[in-house]
Amino acid sequence: MEAPPPRLEASVNRFETNLRIPGPTSLPSAVREAGARQMINHRGPEFAGMQERVVGGLREFFGTANDIVLLTCAGTGGLEAAIVNTLSPGDRVLAVSIGAFGDRFAAIASTYGAEVTRLDVPWGKAAEPDALADALRAGGPWQAVLLTHNETSTGVMNPIADLAGVVRELAPDALILVDGVSGVGAVPFRQDAWGLDVVVSGSQKSWMAAPGMAFVSVSERAWQAGATARMPRYYLDLAKHRESQASGQTPWTPAVAVVFQLDVAIGLMRDEGSEAIFARHAACAAATRAGLDALGFRLFPDPAHASTTVTCVHLPDDLDWKAFNAQLKRRKLVVAGGQGKLSGKVFRIGHLGTVTLDEILGCLGAIEEGLLALGRQVTPGAGVAAGQRAGLESLGLIAGVEARG
Ligand code: PLP
Repeated sequence: MEAPPPRLEASVNRFETNLRIPGPTSLPSAVREAGARQMINHRGPEFAGMQERVVGGLREFFGTANDIVLLTCAGTGGLEAAIVNTLSPGDRVLAVSIGAFGDRFAAIASTYGAEVTRLDVPWGKAAEPDALADALRAGGPWQAVLLTHNETSTGVMNPIADLAGVVRELAPDALILVDGVSGVGAVPFRQDAWGLDVVVSGSQKSWMAAPGMAFVSVSERAWQAGATARMPRYYLDLAKHRESQASGQTPWTPAVAVVFQLDVAIGLMRDEGSEAIFARHAACAAATRAGLDALGFRLFPDPAHASTTVTCVHLPDDLDWKAFNAQLKRRKLVVAGGQGKLSGKVFRIGHLGTVTLDEILGCLGAIEEGLLALGRQVTPGAGVAAGQRAGLESLGLIAGVEARG
C-alpha cells in the first residue's frame, strides 16, 4: 500500500489567531473539546485508564521504558522536581547554560543548596562536547550535570546525545538531568539509549494540550539517587507520585481537563506517527528559516544548531519592535519577542505541536505585509515562496525542482 502523503492540510482559520509563540500552542479542535468535558472521579478507573494511555504515549516520544510521572504544574515545576528528587544540599552540579532556561535550571539547583558550577555558552551557540569535557575535568566529582535540550530563548537545539556521551565517559556516576520542555515530542529523542537520567517536558509544548502539566521521566539510577537525596520536597515528591500512579492515581488532585486533552492529543500523535510528526516539524522549521531569511532577517543562532521548534531572528536596528509587532497583531499573527537580555533585540516564531506548513506560510505572508505597511522594501511573496520551497524540499516533495529551473 502506498504511504500516505505528509500532512499538508490547511489549518489557517480567519476567525482565529495564528499563535506562533513557542508554547502554549494552539490546539486541535478535538483537544479543545476534550478540555470542556464534564469532570470525572480522579480516583476511579476512567482516570486510571487515561493516565496509563498518556504515559504509554509519552514513553514512545521520550524513547524510554522509564516511569514517567505526570505532575500538575508548569514545566518549571518539572525542572524543580528533577533537582529536589535527586540531589542533596552541597552536591556538586555542573550546569550547562546556553540561554535563559539553562540559567533557570541552574538557579533552581542553587536555590536548593547545590554547589553549582556553571558552563556558560554564549547565547546563540550550542554547548560543545569538548568544552563540556574540559569543564567536567576541571572540577568534580559531579553528582549531576544539567543540560537543556532545546533552548527556547535563543532558538538553539543542543546536540544532546553527544553531550550526554561526554558526561557518561568522563563522569559516569553523574546524573544527567535534562530540560526537554520545548523539544521532546517534536524531534527524535532516545532517553534510554542516550543515558539520560531525568527528562522533563510540559503539556503546552509539542504535546498539543493546554498548559498545566509537566512530565518527568526518571531512570532507575535517578530513583536510586532519590532514595538518599536530601533536598526538601513534598508536593513535587516523585516517589509519592510513582506510588500513586501504580494504582492509577496521582497523590494530589490533578489537572483533569489537561489529562482529558492529553489523552486525545497523544491519540492524534500516535495516528499521525512519530516519523510524520518529526518530518512536519522539520519542514516547518526549514520554511520559517528560509522565509525569514528571504525577508532579510538574520538568524540569531548558529545555523548548525538552529532549533526545530522555535526560530529566533535578529530584529534589524532600524525596525521598531512595537510598530512591527502591532502590524503583525493586526493580521492576527502573534509571535514572541526576545527574553531576558535579548528583549527588543530578537523575535521568535514557534513551530511546534499542531503546526502545519500552511500556518507557517500564512505567518510569513503576514510578516511580509506588515513590513510593506511600514514602508520597507520587500518583494511581495518573497518570504512565502522561499518558505514554501524549503518546506516542500524538506518533505522531499520537490526534489530537483530547482535543477529544472
Ligand atoms: N524550559 C524550556 C526550554 C522552556 O521553553 C520553558 C517554557 O517556555 C520552560 C522550561 C518553563 O516552562 P513553564 O513556563 O511551563 O514553567
